[in-house]
Amino acid sequence: MTIRFDDRVAIVTGAGNGLGREHALALAKRGAKVVVNDLGGDVSGAGGSATAAEAVVAEIVAAGGEAIANGANVCKVDEVEAMVQAAMDKWGRIDILVNNAGILRDKTFTKMEHSNFNMVVDVHLTGSMNCTKAVWDIMRDQGFGRIVMTTSSSGLYGNFGQANYGSAKMGVVGLMNTLCLEGAKYNINVNCLSPCAATRMTEGLMPQEALDLLKPELVTPAVLYLVSDEGPNRTILAAGAGHFARAVVNETEGLAFAEGEATAENIAANWDAIANSEQKELKAGGEQTMKFLQHAAAANGVKL
Ligand code: NAD
Repeated sequence: MTIRFDDRVAIVTGAGNGLGREHALALAKRGAKVVVNDLGGDVSGAGGSATAAEAVVAEIVAAGGEAIANGANVCKVDEVEAMVQAAMDKWGRIDILVNNAGILRDKTFTKMEHSNFNMVVDVHLTGSMNCTKAVWDIMRDQGFGRIVMTTSSSGLYGNFGQANYGSAKMGVVGLMNTLCLEGAKYNINVNCLSPCAATRMTEGLMPQEALDLLKPELVTPAVLYLVSDEGPNRTILAAGAGHFARAVVNETEGLAFAEGEATAENIAANWDAIANSEQKELKAGGEQTMKFLQHAAAANGVKL
């Protein structure tokens, strides 16, 4: 099976550098028409220039593909809407959105100013929401859409000095969880990518031998799979150095106490059974409520 994107239109945000650039080049190589979005600032989000996005467009066009450059700041709703309108004016549809744009403002929590927290959340979480919101009704009307949120091991598992970034990156997982429920009947798949790659974001963090293994182009196949026609929905796909794994949020079966027995002391006394019972991936918040109610009904002798 060859995965192709002929007649598909894709927007990749932050595609002037690093991972986004690879995603845009690969989508175009497999037939997609691509909006190469990039604000063109530095790693902290300062400054801006059209050069990076234009260079990627030139590469795509030179290879025989179709692409347009766009300098929208994903934090600005009017700029994002204008980007989506430009794609609609040119190609008449939008099938794929890869929310990839990102910045870093690392600091320990003690030293982190509110502005550094808010700015990082604004670019990663609100920026992903802005772009997704701008294409959502188009995808809904088309009955087809493929959206990727870019999360991070920092959000899924934590990372020293990244309270802002980790919060934003777990935030996009929450956004995916609800959007894939709302998008399912319109054939809109929403997934998350958790990448690891040598880019300007990770420059100097590891020895050169490690960085050489972490080529961004080894992450991009995960995006191509996630946005393909037969791709999954509600999946967190981790990718780095040619290794792929699925991350999951599980919940233990836990333990129910009858009313009067539900005390902090009983939680302490039964901690092993609560924390280490069989785990399951829940597919919606309501599944947790149903579990609670079923156990509570049994523990309290109530018929639901
Ligand atoms: P990068 O700095 O090379 O690329 C990010 C791009 O986003 C830049 O070109 C930048 O100009 C653009 N950008 C930033 N703010 C923008 C805005 N407001 N509007 C539009 N464009 C904007 O970094 P990268 O490593 O390629 O990161 C890509 C994504 O992957 C980011 O979301 C990042 O958080 C995520 N990520 C990367 C790694 C890694 O190991 N490199 C790990 C986990 C997650």
